[in-house]
Amino acid sequence: MDIKTIIRKYREMGVRLTPQRLAIVKSLEGDRSHPSAIDIYNRLKDEYPSLSLTTVYNTLQMLKEMGEVAELNLHPEKSLYDPDVTPHSHVYCIRCERVDDLPYAEPPEALLKKAQDLGYKVKDVATIVYGICKRCGEIRDH
Ligand SMILES: [Zn+2]
Ligand SMILES: [Zn+2]
Repeated sequence: MDIKTIIRKYREMGVRLTPQRLAIVKSLEGDRSHPSAIDIYNRLKDEYPSLSLTTVYNTLQMLKEMGEVAELNLHPEKSLYDPDVTPHSHVYCIRCERVDDLPYAEPPEALLKKAQDLGYKVKDVATIVYGICKRCGEIRDH
């Protein structure tokens, strides 16, 4: 994700980059926590009392369409957002919902072929590892 590119794209589309929208973009820059829309809203609502959750959702949708943010379907009920759009995989903690980045994993050829044999045109392959993070494991041990 690149703020300069985002500002330029907004300008090209003739969409005003309001202080609220810019705050959302800035809060995502370099964020490795894979936040949900609600996480972002909670972070910013004190500083921007007029911010609505709808604005957060709309801005994330826009950033996704620009290809500047990836939407991750790791959580069963909410989308998580990743400003790192380079190919990589994720490990997800099933207790605290923490998400960490993993290096990109090549999907096994056999899986791709099976999907293609079923007539699927493969659009995207996601590798997700589910587990219990170190911190959650330690809490349980004490
Ligand atoms: Zn955890
Ligand atoms: Zn990631």
